[in-house]
Amino acid sequence: MNAVQLLERLVSIPSVSGNEDEIATNLSGILSKEGFKVQREDNSIWFMLGERERPHLLLLSHLDTVPPCAGWTSDPFKAHIENGKLIGLGANDAKGSVAAMILTAREIRHTHYEGSITFAFVADEERGGEGVRAIKPRLGHIDAAVVGEPTGLQICTAQRGLLILRCTAHGKASHAAHAHLGENAIHKAARDISRLAVMEFEAHEDLGATRAEVTQITGGLARNQVPDRCEFFVDLRTTPNLDHATVANEIGAALESEVAIHSHRYEPISTNASEAVVRAALEVADATAGIESVTTSDWAFLKGTPAVKVGPGDTNRSHRPNEYLLLSELEKGVAFYSRFIHTYFRMAAKEVAHV
Ligand SMILES: [Zn+2]
Repeated sequence: MNAVQLLERLVSIPSVSGNEDEIATNLSGILSKEGFKVQREDNSIWFMLGERERPHLLLLSHLDTVPPCAGWTSDPFKAHIENGKLIGLGANDAKGSVAAMILTAREIRHTHYEGSITFAFVADEERGGEGVRAIKPRLGHIDAAVVGEPTGLQICTAQRGLLILRCTAHGKASHAAHAHLGENAIHKAARDISRLAVMEFEAHEDLGATRAEVTQITGGLARNQVPDRCEFFVDLRTTPNLDHATVANEIGAALESEVAIHSHRYEPISTNASEAVVRAALEVADATAGIESVTTSDWAFLKGTPAVKVGPGDTNRSHRPNEYLLLSELEKGVAFYSRFIHTYFRMAAKEVAHV
């Protein structure tokens, strides 16, 4: 099975988050037949090349997809090739990266390099990262990681986090005709929302500013009643210089409403340019500097491990109808990962010798 056939197969197995059993079973069958020693936890699978010697490199991507959106002009769960494009749900995000990593594993398994590599393909990336969080403790110490997502093979060295706050404005109900007896919770929320709209946080030197976006609001029970409660959600795409708890406290102090953290598990993250994983990736990509990414990924759960996000495809095609990967991108992806592995081990060998 060549790269294109493998990607066709992966795309033709529906794997919307929460339903990855079939793809995990199918892929571990293919890999086991080729002699890889596949391990599995729930619907995430991984295998290792090398004998646990360091440095230990992790290549990680995800098997799940979002549900198909409206606007597809073909069956999203059937891969088909047209004008050099492989079209189907997940072709770009991120089964192209999965296929490229597997082809890389096949290519390099009989070559020499100083270290070991774990290839992991996990479930639930699109829904909360349950897959990567479950397997991480079982992988042992990891010296560096590559997260396979469509970046056009550009080297992403910083990624925004996600902090979601749930704010509740409390008031006092009354008949709207006797409004002086009540306290309008929606008015209170409105004042807070105006404050949030102009609130500024310390900007990151590469990623820039973080904004507080109010994304949902509910309040009021009847058209003739002063509302005693109004709830709204705030979405903050945070940068690595900001601490989630500090930001939440800052907002809590500035608002009249009660502020609670609804979700903070997607930490903002970045890797220093001096790390071997960054230097190796930039050298292979023939680039001088990394790029920044506004979308979250499983990288958020690898905090403390030097990592880059890089893979074939284009993030703008993700979660959209008629998602595709160019066959030429797939081929370049395989070439990139293979060259990267050798370059990384060459650069890291010296460093780990001193650990
Ligand atoms: Zn993805």
